[in-house]
Amino acid sequence: MENEREKVFTTIKKEEWDLVIIGGGITGSGIMREAVRRNIRTLLVEQRDFSWGTSSRSGQLVHGGLRYLEQGNFKLTFKSVRERGRLLHELPGLVDTFGLMMTFYKGSWFRQLIVRLALLVYDIMSWNFRKHKFSVKDLIKRVPNIDQKNLVGGLLIYESVTDDSRLAFRVLQQAREEGGVAVNYCKVNNLLKDKNGVCGVTIEDMCNGDKLDVYAKQVINATGAWVDILRKNIKKTNQKHVRPLRGSHLVFSADRLPVSNSIVLIHPISKRPGFVMPWEGRVIVGNTDIDHTTDLSVEAAITQDEIDYLLENVQYHFPTLSVSRDDIIATFSGVRPVVDSGKADPSSESRDHVVWQEDGLLSVTGGKLTTFRLIALDALKKAQKLLGPLPDLDQEQTFFTPLEKATVFTGKLEGKRLIRLQGRHGNQAVELVNIAKAGELEEIPGTLTLWAELRWAAKNEAVVYLEDLMLRRTRIGLLLGQGGKEFLPRIREICQPLLEWNDDKWDLEEQQYLETWQRCHSVNGI
Ligand code: FAD
Repeated sequence: MENEREKVFTTIKKEEWDLVIIGGGITGSGIMREAVRRNIRTLLVEQRDFSWGTSSRSGQLVHGGLRYLEQGNFKLTFKSVRERGRLLHELPGLVDTFGLMMTFYKGSWFRQLIVRLALLVYDIMSWNFRKHKFSVKDLIKRVPNIDQKNLVGGLLIYESVTDDSRLAFRVLQQAREEGGVAVNYCKVNNLLKDKNGVCGVTIEDMCNGDKLDVYAKQVINATGAWVDILRKNIKKTNQKHVRPLRGSHLVFSADRLPVSNSIVLIHPISKRPGFVMPWEGRVIVGNTDIDHTTDLSVEAAITQDEIDYLLENVQYHFPTLSVSRDDIIATFSGVRPVVDSGKADPSSESRDHVVWQEDGLLSVTGGKLTTFRLIALDALKKAQKLLGPLPDLDQEQTFFTPLEKATVFTGKLEGKRLIRLQGRHGNQAVELVNIAKAGELEEIPGTLTLWAELRWAAKNEAVVYLEDLMLRRTRIGLLLGQGGKEFLPRIREICQPLLEWNDDKWDLEEQQYLETWQRCHSVNGI
């Protein structure tokens, strides 16, 4: 009998495709969702795991982008504020409001003025006027460990926090429910061409090396930081190139870095803003923004210099906590695709997205997690040249299927845990709860993740390797010491039968996962 992955390949071979999307991050997933709702037969292929690229390594913010406003980019801020509102409304439990505190010290009156003006514009854009100003006394109540020398007050910004990988997967899931087909660990190595330009792709199954040609009216290159690699197959390229910028984060326990709020931390030397933020029961510190010169085929990892830079910022702003490298639970690094304009300072490069057609290949890159829906609509507008006219590209429908009002959870799961689960799984949360065994609706210690989420993912979420389960379907590899090694025996008990792995396979998976974790998520860095 065919397993789920084999069934997907049978479908790929059998169907005729209108659209092939290369790249299974938030951009590719968003395009697939907007395409299938317009009855476009769509296939998405991802070389590694879904959201393996930048979409599982971001700052976890769904944000309007106050920084973009300060840079005068009103359009991007306005669009982001609108999309943030939409996601907050549609995905409570996965996208939630939180307060981001900016602290001010003596001599910063001009910066304060700029931020207050920016916040006024921000409030007008979202048509939501809230209290921002905090006196020193109120600020210290909220953030007791902050450096208080010369502190003059704070401003609270309202933003939203998410789990980026789950957000990307939720979008992908929505697209699949409506007929889209997606497969992970399938790499596009070659573009197929006819006299009109690109007409398909050769995909390679990275699990067994099988190759397959797939034809489509339109091929979309949504490979983020990798976008230029496929363009090498095109003769007539334009001048656009991606400048890969790496951003890294540190993860701490809330005991060592107790913050109830997110706080903007201006780095004492570079003067760049960083932040500290409660996330999934832990606290993350971010982020760097530097040119990524490593080969893109190698998974991004933090460097020792980045660790020092981020630690320096925390130590400067929380001098009494004596935070050190020993307190770091995990690290994660992502590569931001920004379109190169040759600016000396990486942080000054525009974060807007770009879409362009070249010889039948539509490339989409840049932008933000927050604006994925707008990026998708923009891409589809340009794809109409080959796909033909598409209905209602400007419509304002809900993006996700609304929750059914069933109360089947009563007595099993309530309150925040339930909302969190529904945000991540929509109506499938009902079945997730129903298949949970005794004790599996409890949280894995040190995280907000339920044991049942592992069972669900192993059974239903295209897990190919153990790292997919530990780092992306759940985030426990980033939240627990040593990548959650201590819990692997119980995880094995739950997941091994569902993944149909024999003992040798499980042992190998554990070994490979722990090696990847050491290389890319420990403090060892490069
Ligand atoms: P990716 O997620 O990288 O997806 C591209 C995919 O293409 C990859 O998974 C890759 O494996 C695949 N691929 C490549 N080549 C091939 C091939 N040949 N065949 C098949 N598949 C292929 N945005 C926000 O809104 N909020 C934030 O707080 C935020 N913080 C950020 C912090 C950092 C440090 C960084 C780096 C980015 C941040 N961003 C943030 C930006 C956001 O994360 C990215 O814009 C977004 O994730 C890009 O998604 P994508 O789908 O375009 O790219």
